[in-house]
Amino acid sequence: MSTHHRTGGLVDGFGRVATDLRVSLTDRCNLRCTYCMPEEGLDWLAKPELLTGEEISRLVRIAVTTLGVREVRFTGGEPLLRRELVDIVREAAALEPRPTLSVTTNGIGLARLAPTLREVGLDRVNVSLDTLDPARFKAMTRRDRHADVLAGLAAAVEAGLGPVKVNTVLMRGVNDDEAAALLAWCLERGYELRFIEQMPLDAQHGWQRSEMITAGEILTALRAAFRLDPESGRGSDPAERWLVDGGPGTVGVIGSVTRPFCEACDRTRLTADGQIRNCLFAREESDLRAALRGGADDAEIADRWRAAMWTKKAGAGIDDPEFLQPDRPMSAIGG
Ligand code: SAM
Repeated sequence: MSTHHRTGGLVDGFGRVATDLRVSLTDRCNLRCTYCMPEEGLDWLAKPELLTGEEISRLVRIAVTTLGVREVRFTGGEPLLRRELVDIVREAAALEPRPTLSVTTNGIGLARLAPTLREVGLDRVNVSLDTLDPARFKAMTRRDRHADVLAGLAAAVEAGLGPVKVNTVLMRGVNDDEAAALLAWCLERGYELRFIEQMPLDAQHGWQRSEMITAGEILTALRAAFRLDPESGRGSDPAERWLVDGGPGTVGVIGSVTRPFCEACDRTRLTADGQIRNCLFAREESDLRAALRGGADDAEIADRWRAAMWTKKAGAGIDDPEFLQPDRPMSAIGG
């Protein structure tokens, strides 16, 4: 394989171009979703290891103004736990060309923050919600915060952060009976529901292929209650989308395991401690924090970022028997 170009965007050896940046702002979270984190939490990154707000803003600027990134999504951990979020969004919104800005959140605290985030330039939010039942929510997340999430969702629409997307992970025998009910509930409120297949990214390494609710199963459950017609033009969207009962409402299914979309992937990821990952499932990272703190100029940082993306693998291979789970869990990489 030849080496990467020293100018231009984030191209890999297979010709894919990354224009969508996921930034993890923190590995901490105020929920303990069973498929993500153990009850006691994890060994959080220490403060000096975390990028500062200024360091994050600088990397976002380089990504947008030099490397062709057009969309920036802030995630974690729980991004709303990071106080600098508002400043980071404001600075990103002032960049030319203006990137699309969104946040993936569990919705706790969004009721309070949504108007401010909108004001400083946030475009959209994705809110994670796995159940309509408060008792189930408490069992699945180990926190009694269902009402806060619903309030956050409503506030996001009110603030103009729409179309609001809802992310749902179904677990066998836990909430897999709610697929159709969740869709009806979201359609009624104008939320765009997307189901995500459970991936082997939990800190506990408890994921089992047989226990995962597949995209196929989700579609079967939905078709028992709705007519689904495929929408064309998926592009680099990981979700396959269907028009529900003739539209205009839609539903998405992200079949990360059974229907991988690696050939269309346009993602590049920055972890909260300043590592570039070219794939959620990569087993290597490239350290931009050391470069930043070692005094590297923008050109050198951009070049390291290009080099990190160049080696992106053709596919994540989650469904391969030889698949190895990455060393870091989803909460540390940024979901
Ligand atoms: N805390 C924020 C939230 O709840 O949206 C952002 C980070 S969270 C890791 C991002 C998304 O990843 C959530 O929708 C969550 O349900 C999902 N997620 C976490 N672990 C997962 C897993 N093992 N498989 C699939 N999705 C997962």
